[in-house]
Amino acid sequence: MIILPIFIPHLGCPFQCVYCNQKLITKSKVPSREDIRNRIEKFCRKNPANEKEVAFFGGTFTNLNPKKQQEFFDSVNLFKNKISGIRISTRPDTIDQDILSFCKKNNVRTIELGIQSFNDEVLLASKRGYNSQIAQRACYLIQEFKLGVQLMPGLPKFSKKTLKQTIQTTININPDFVRIYPTIVLASTELEKWYLKGKFHPLELNEAIKIVSEMIQQFEEHKIKVIKVGLHSDIDERNIVAGPYHQSFGELVRAEILLKRIIDNFENRTLMISVANISLFKGFNSQMLKSLKTQLNLNRIPIIIDNNLDKNNFLFTERPPQEYW
Ligand code: SF4
Repeated sequence: MIILPIFIPHLGCPFQCVYCNQKLITKSKVPSREDIRNRIEKFCRKNPANEKEVAFFGGTFTNLNPKKQQEFFDSVNLFKNKISGIRISTRPDTIDQDILSFCKKNNVRTIELGIQSFNDEVLLASKRGYNSQIAQRACYLIQEFKLGVQLMPGLPKFSKKTLKQTIQTTININPDFVRIYPTIVLASTELEKWYLKGKFHPLELNEAIKIVSEMIQQFEEHKIKVIKVGLHSDIDERNIVAGPYHQSFGELVRAEILLKRIIDNFENRTLMISVANISLFKGFNSQMLKSLKTQLNLNRIPIIIDNNLDKNNFLFTERPPQEYW
C-alpha cells in the first residue's frame, strides 16, 4: 500500500502544541484544490496497480470546519475509482459519532490519532488538552476504520511508569498500526523555551533507541505493526534544538532489536546473517559489532553472510565461517 501525503500544516489545530512546529517538519504550505488534484492525478498515473490512499497529515482534520473538510474530500473523491480511500490524521478530542459518519460517507478508510501518551500526567504537562480516557474513547469509537496511533515517548513527565501504561493501553486497544516519534525539541516551540530554561530534559539518543526498541518488541509480540519510528531524515537539522534525533534513527532501533535477539539466543557457533544487515553491523562506527563482542565477551565473531536470509532473521550454524569480524 502506498500513500500520497498532503500536508495541511496546523490547519484545524485548536492551538499550537508545546512540541509541535509542522511548518518546520513538513516544509509545506496548505495546497490549493488545484494543487491537490494535480498531485493525485500524477500519483495515480505513476502507480496504476498499487493499493493507494491519499492522506491529509500535519493538522487536525476533523476540527476543520465541515465545509473545508468537504472541499478536501471532494478533491480526492474525484479519483474515487482509482484510490482505495482517504487517510486523515487528527486529535482524539475531535472525534465523535457524527464526525465518524461524515468521514465514512466521504470515503475515509484510515484514521491516525495523535495520542502521544495514555498517561494523564504526561498529557497535562504537555498541555495536550485531553486526558487518557478521552483518548481511549476515541480509539474505541473508531471501529469501522483502520486505526493508527501516534505515540511520543520522552514528553514532559515521561517515566518508565508512564511508558508501561502507554504500551499496555495501546495493546488493549489493538490498533492496526502505530507510529513512534521520540520527543525532539524543535525551534520556535514552547518546549524549546522550557528546554532553554532547564525545565525540560529530552531523552538521550541511546535511551530513546532502547525505549523505542522495547515498544516495538512489545507491540509486535501482540501483532501490532509499527510503521514508522523517528522524524523523517530530510528535516533541516538547524531546526532541531535538542533531543534524540538521528537521520538513521529507524536503522539504529533495528540494530538494537537484532542485537538483543542475537544475545538472547546466542549459541557458540557461526553466526549467519542476512546480506541486508551488513550495514547494521558495520555502519554507525561498528557500534553494533562492538556491543555484540562486549556483551558476549568475544574477541571475534565467526560470520556467514547469506543472500537469501530475511533481514529480520539470523541463524547459528555448524558450518565453517566465511570470515571473522
Ligand atoms: S501536535 Fe497535532 S494538534 Fe498539536 S499543533 Fe501539531 S498538528 Fe496541531
